[in-house]
Amino acid sequence: MLQAHRGPRRAARVAALAAIAAAAITVPTLASAHGRPDPSVAARHAIDGGHARNVIMFLGDGMGDSEITIARNYTQGAAGRLAMDSLPLTGEYTTYAVQQDDPTKPNYVTDSAASGTGWATGHKTYNNAISVTPDGSDVPTILELAQNAGYKTGDVTTAELTDATPAVLASHVPFRACQGPADMATCPLDTKQVGGPGSIAEQEVDHNVDVLLGGGKARFDQTVTGGPFAGLTVTAQAQAQGYTLVTDASSLAATTPKQKVLGLFTPGNMDLEWTGPLAQAFPAGTTPTACTASNPARPTTQPHLADMTRKAITLLDAKARHDRGGKAKHGKGFFLQVEGASIDKQDHASNPCGQIGETAAFDAAIAEGLAYAKKHPDTLVVVTADHGHTSQIVEYPQTDTHHSTGAIATLLTHDNAPMVVSYATNLVGQSQDHTGTEVRIAAQGPQAARVLGVTDQTDLFRTFKAALGLH
Ligand SMILES: [Zn+2]
Repeated sequence: MLQAHRGPRRAARVAALAAIAAAAITVPTLASAHGRPDPSVAARHAIDGGHARNVIMFLGDGMGDSEITIARNYTQGAAGRLAMDSLPLTGEYTTYAVQQDDPTKPNYVTDSAASGTGWATGHKTYNNAISVTPDGSDVPTILELAQNAGYKTGDVTTAELTDATPAVLASHVPFRACQGPADMATCPLDTKQVGGPGSIAEQEVDHNVDVLLGGGKARFDQTVTGGPFAGLTVTAQAQAQGYTLVTDASSLAATTPKQKVLGLFTPGNMDLEWTGPLAQAFPAGTTPTACTASNPARPTTQPHLADMTRKAITLLDAKARHDRGGKAKHGKGFFLQVEGASIDKQDHASNPCGQIGETAAFDAAIAEGLAYAKKHPDTLVVVTADHGHTSQIVEYPQTDTHHSTGAIATLLTHDNAPMVVSYATNLVGQSQDHTGTEVRIAAQGPQAARVLGVTDQTDLFRTFKAALGLH
């Protein structure tokens, strides 16, 4: 130990050293893995081969590893962690589709319809297909199987309820565009007029899903063309079939477990959570800019994804408990899918702040699911994506000949550091393309260890079945 009493010059040196030491302690440094608990402890506790009472699937549309990292850097800092990062068991899964003309060959870049068919039914199919195989056959979905076995069911999204991800669980059509009865040009054999099952909107209502929440009211306000409800809108058909229609946050909050709920909160996709500058071609997009963590155009009456998730869980849990008090369905809870849809849509639009805001809102919804699972550990929670997407974190542009050729935006993050996000899978100003990369799948609860390693999207269907004890 240095002693101050050995003389004034020595005392001055000691004081200087102490000041340096104090400064070293207070200089902010990024936390590292050294500061985190050993993950093998959580992993050992997380391996549970039993049955789940409930499954909650969180699907970030287009939420590849880049999209997660961009949102983490911006909202938490590079060393921070999102709620979705806390799941103890993580793997990667492959997402490819197959070619429609030759299903023996892969289509390396999937859309949400083919990938959704993969995880919802266990079958590979072609882009645009909604739970039909390449030969046009309908295949059972995990929601249908769970419902038949006595589980309550829910389907929640920030897109239109008739968009590909919610559609794959409760409808079967050869083309994803067949969303409402007036959208059936590419599905002429499926219309109710010719005795078919109808559009995606009609099928979702006919499927009797307990809780349906999202956008897309304009599709449901189209007129049914055949069958017992011909001449009514799909919305009116749903009400005739016992659904309570809600169109804003307060009417959603007022629903009770005795009701079957159809929530349609916007005519199209739900409004974005955040706003900010679009990415642009270099030399634009190089000034560090912050996002605005709100959107003045978003009506305050519109629920957030976390609100819809919390309410869906509350309703489904209570419905299942009510059944359990009766004579049947002992011990069976629910299957719920929650989609953060506009991560993908804002990636297409080269809109980094829109994309980050949707990822943050999706993460808040995941936090709701994890809070429920903490009290109900017999819940399998899965967080994954359907496919990768465009956005990449790239180096700050160096010179006129050293920069991304795509659109870029430079965001000032939580670390107060610039992060350059590039969109370069299509020309600047055009809709950006999906990518064919494998994506993260993370899980906790019964059967969660099945996501470890490298699996395929279709394996998730079998994981759900194993967890719910379905055959
Ligand atoms: Zn997309």
